[in-house]
Parts: sequence; structure tokens; C-alpha cells
Amino acid sequence: MKRFLLSWFLCGALFGQGTDSYAADQTPTLVVVVSVDQLAYEYLERFRRGFDERGIFRRIEREGAWFTNCHHRHGVTTTGPGHSVQLTGAYPSTNGIVDNGWIDRATGKQVYCVADPSAHLVGPIAGDPPVSPRNLLADTLGDRLKIVTGSRSKVFGVAIKDRASILMTGHAADGAFWISDGGKWITSDYYRKELPAYLRSWNASDASLRLAGRSWELLYDRSRYRHSPTEDTFGERPLPGMTADFPHKMPDAGAKNYIRLVSYSPFGIEITLEGARLIVADEKLGQDEFPDLLLINLSSNDYVGHTFGPESLEVEDITYRTDLMLGEFVDFINERMEGRPWLFVLTADHGVAPIPERTARLKIAARRNPVTSDGKEGPGTTHQMLEALLRAKLGVKDSQPSLVLAVIESQIYLRQDHPALKGTAFAEAQRLTRDWLLAQPSVAAAITREQILSGCVNGALETALRLSFHPRRSGDVLFCLEPYDIQGNVAATHGSPWDYDTHVPLLVLEPGNTPRSTRIPAGRYHRRVSPASIAPTLAQLLHVPPPGGCVEEPLYELLPDSPNEGGNPR
Ligand SMILES: [Zn+2]
Repeated sequence: MKRFLLSWFLCGALFGQGTDSYAADQTPTLVVVVSVDQLAYEYLERFRRGFDERGIFRRIEREGAWFTNCHHRHGVTTTGPGHSVQLTGAYPSTNGIVDNGWIDRATGKQVYCVADPSAHLVGPIAGDPPVSPRNLLADTLGDRLKIVTGSRSKVFGVAIKDRASILMTGHAADGAFWISDGGKWITSDYYRKELPAYLRSWNASDASLRLAGRSWELLYDRSRYRHSPTEDTFGERPLPGMTADFPHKMPDAGAKNYIRLVSYSPFGIEITLEGARLIVADEKLGQDEFPDLLLINLSSNDYVGHTFGPESLEVEDITYRTDLMLGEFVDFINERMEGRPWLFVLTADHGVAPIPERTARLKIAARRNPVTSDGKEGPGTTHQMLEALLRAKLGVKDSQPSLVLAVIESQIYLRQDHPALKGTAFAEAQRLTRDWLLAQPSVAAAITREQILSGCVNGALETALRLSFHPRRSGDVLFCLEPYDIQGNVAATHGSPWDYDTHVPLLVLEPGNTPRSTRIPAGRYHRRVSPASIAPTLAQLLHVPPPGGCVEEPLYELLPDSPNEGGNPR
């Protein structure tokens, strides 16, 4: 009763309407943001005919807002950066998540984007590394909600991957949960000292083991698929223990890599959404006037895409299954919300490039590992060729230590403290490295630290790379490969500033029974936008300020005409 009176008073005070109450307020009390890992926008068009009437995509097409040209603006399109952008409204250049990992200059070793040696994991861990959001240098929408509601908004994140759960959720959340290598829900003591009871009992029941021996079969009749009638597995790289074709049988419960193989199938989505349902129900999300936030990442789509490639029957099938499972999930929440206003947002952290060997078969240039990275020592690696070039050009004696600290996917780190790189020699070494890279047939663009910091960056690729550059974490030269060239040994991957990696869905649905005048305007919007606009848009719809580090503007297409007080129907 006390709370009701308080809200009655607050609403009246804010909007000058003494008759107003929480019940009449149309501000959403729950926002669910789902990031489907590696869900390229292209899939929504290619598989459109196969989507189900009860699924999420046709539903949003009918009732929601659909952005056809949403692109990540940063150039290094890996998972960590993609998730770091969505709920902060900040790019890796300021939020610090420049890649899934970067080089610590003090040790020369790679640092995982959410690694935190001072953290301890909570729950039944199985050799998983200690992690926390400490490396994320920006606040999230969840953090902002916690600040302005005096922590009365509830904020939860759930995913199979730790970095996805953590980077979408932020610092002040009530919990961010992910699946351990042992197939159990865990979290970090950064968030809490104990798992909630409902996750402890899920863990205790060995719920993930019920998938043992089950088969991933095609969801629909084969004739419904866009994939050509004959399955062509050329270039696919199934994990050991995985079959190349359907049906894909899940391993036995005792198998060493049990949860890994299950994650590489739609059963991983099932587990994630099961966790999400428990949170919605047991934490009573959306049930009071302080808006709650649930962040979900579906990681299995990424695992399946890396293994079988975007042209596979597996990717088509998991996309149809995602469509149906998310449709059911929205129904589940809707029932609990009993018509009250809430928002559902769907996006992705990045897209994917086709398997290069398949592309090359069509006589289109596509190379794998054209610029070799560290790890493969021996004559002819990028590291060694660059080292030799820089030593010769800068006249460095054989007795002096190496100049190149590390070469990782899209960055080259020089030893900034090297005696031969004092003063102008450091900038000279960067230029030599950049020009050497630009002379390689597989390199499309390269820029130096010096160029970025002095504001000399032009061109679309260079601008994208600049947004992936953080002065304390990035290398000294950033580069990207020609279209369809990839680095790495999984079948297909992502990480470039090219369209296939940046173009992702941005779909918004308002499923409750809110009056038309206060709803987000449904429609198909073709303006080029960025997932970084999600945070400021949701902030405005919730009548709270955007995250402190946010640099993007809200999507004006989604802002309703009237300020949420049940204005006149249009
Ligand atoms: Zn990936």
C-alpha cells in the first residue's frame, strides 16, 4: 500500500495529473534484449519463407519495428565488442572491449576480455577462468537503471558464454549467469556470493544431462528448406565426435566434452531459455513500477555457424528453431505480464563470412590465414618478416631485443619501450609496418596509432578500425583483410568491417495490450543505424537517462507521439 501511494504521488508530481496512477502508466516495466550470436541480417531475408506464423520473426514483421540496415560501426566484429556496444551505446574505442582478447604490454600475454584474476566464480565450476565486468570501461543500461532507481530495478543476464552474459549486463546487475564447462549455471562473485535457489536446484537436478543421446533432426519437412536438395558438406569442419550430416546425435552423459557438443546444437538455446524462464518467474520480473531488464545471448547459433558455415542446412535449421523458440518465449512472458507494457528487442553481436574454400570454388578470391598470426613460428610468418624489415630499416643491432611484441588477428603490437623506438622512431616503425601490410595482396586497409591519435583517419574501413581502437589496449597498427579472406581455423568466422560481418537484425516488439498512441510505431525502417542505439532508445522509452558513456542517439522512429499517459489515439 505504501508503495502504491508513493507511486501515485510520484506520477502525479511528474506529470501534473492528480488522477494518474502506476496502473495507468504505459511505461514498460520489463525489457528483454536477446542477442542471437552470429545471426546475420541476411538470414532474415533468405529464410523468410520458412519462418512460422507463431515464430518471432513473422510476429515482429506484423506488429513490431524492423530495421533493415542495422550495422555494427566498429571494425573488429568479434563477440566481446559486439556485446559491449549493445547496452552501453559506446564503441570499443571508449568501452575498452577492443576484441575478445588483447595484449597486455607488461607481460606480452593475451588477456581475455572479461578475465579478472581477482574474481572468484560462484557455483559448480569445472576449470572455468575467473571473470567479471571489470574490463568494461563503460556503464550499461542496466547500470543506469540501478543508479536512478536506487537499485529497485532488477537486472539479470543469461547466456552460455561468460563474456556475452557479462558484457550485456554490466557492473551493478543482480546477476549475470552462464554455463560452466561442466554444464551448470555459474556466476562471478563480482555480482553475488551465491547462486539463486532456482539455479542451484536446476544444477542439482543435472538438468543439462537429459539431452544426452538425443538427436538434432530437421525441424520441418526437407522441402521447406531453402538449402539445395543435396547436402554439400564441402569445407565444413565438425568437431571430433560430431557427424557431418543430420541427424546430429548428442554425446552420452559421461562424455568429456558433453556440454560443448550440446552447445553446438539448438539444445544450447533450449538450456539458455530455460534459465531465462526461471529468472523471469522466480525473480518476478516486470511486476512493479521499476523497470526490470533481462539480457539474453543465444550462443549456439554462433557455434553452429563457425562449424558448418552460413550456407549450411544446420544454420538454416537452427534459425528456424530460434524463430519458434523465441516465439514461445515471448508468449511465456506475455502470460505473466497480463497485458502490461513490456518490450522485446532482438539483435546480434556480428554476422559471418562464408567458408573461404567454398567461395574460392566459385572463382571469387577468398583466402584462409593469408597473414599468419603468432603461434606458428618458423621462417616466413608475419611476425618474423616484420621483425626483419624493421630491424633493417631502423638499423637495430642483432644483440638488441625484438621490436615486434605480438601479431594477433587484426593488430600488430610493437615494443613501445624499446630503446630503438624512442622519439620519432616509434612513429616511423608504425608507418613501416602499415606500408608493409598494405603491400600484401590480402590486406584491404591498415592504420597506425599515430594516425588515429592525430585524427588522420579517412575512409569507411579506417573509420571502423578507429572505433575498435583503445589507446591503452590496442596494438600500434590495425588492419583488415580483403572481403571473404579470414583468419583462423574454424570453417567460417567473422571479425571484419565488411557488410557480412556488420549487418545484424534490430527488431523491436511491444507485446502487451498498450494503447496505440503510446506504443512504439510498427514498421519497416531502412535508415542505416547501429546496435549502439539500442541503449539510448530503451532509456528514452523507460524515461531514464542513457548510460553515462553512451555516444549514440535514440532511434527516433521508435519514440511514440505522446509521453506515455494514454494520450489520444492517432
Ligand atoms: Zn563467433
